[in-house]
Amino acid sequence: MSESHLGHTTSVESRKKMRLARLGRKHSTETRAKIGRLQIGHEVSAKTREKLRLFRLGSSLSEETKKRISFGLARPEVKERIRNARLNQVFPVRDTKPERLFFSRLMKEQRKRLATLGYFIIKHPNLGFCQPDFALFSKDKPSIFIFIDGCYWHCCPKHFPIAKFETQKRTLYYDRKNESIFKLYGIPFIRFWEHDLNTKFNRHYSVSTLIKTLEGIQIAYFLQC
Ligand SMILES: [Zn+2]
Repeated sequence: MSESHLGHTTSVESRKKMRLARLGRKHSTETRAKIGRLQIGHEVSAKTREKLRLFRLGSSLSEETKKRISFGLARPEVKERIRNARLNQVFPVRDTKPERLFFSRLMKEQRKRLATLGYFIIKHPNLGFCQPDFALFSKDKPSIFIFIDGCYWHCCPKHFPIAKFETQKRTLYYDRKNESIFKLYGIPFIRFWEHDLNTKFNRHYSVSTLIKTLEGIQIAYFLQC
């Protein structure tokens, strides 16, 4: 404020006019920096602080915003941002039904064989960019990652060939992204469909496929050396 304004009180009406004149206009980055510098070392009295607190206490918020806050609802774009952040989060995942089925079958039927091949199994290893359902680690062979994909979420071509919902589309997007990373770095991985684990006909499908793949990788590994 200029010198001429010192000691001069602005009427409520004028303040209203000034407010309306400013409405919708934003300070430039330079001006914001200037204001910030002016604030440094400037102490706000307890009275002013209380005033500011009361002013911020809902009075400056629009009715819509107040409503949104009271219902705990965020703006759609904020929601989307939170959702995307959650997708990138890696948390301990509880095993899904097909995962449990796969694991129990593998342990029951192929435990010894896996051990002979020199592999040990780990659930939900954290790779940073994604978390496969299982990993087969070995001291001297490349690791193999296993995905057990639910028919609905991952849109299997047999039961849900078209992704209808946002959640499915997002899952597919991340599947493709992760797959391309695996392929780019030549990391072996296998995907199993939930329906291949469930049906009677395919009772041995998953485990035999896995063992075949393991042996294939092992052969490839020995050929390389
Ligand atoms: Zn299916």
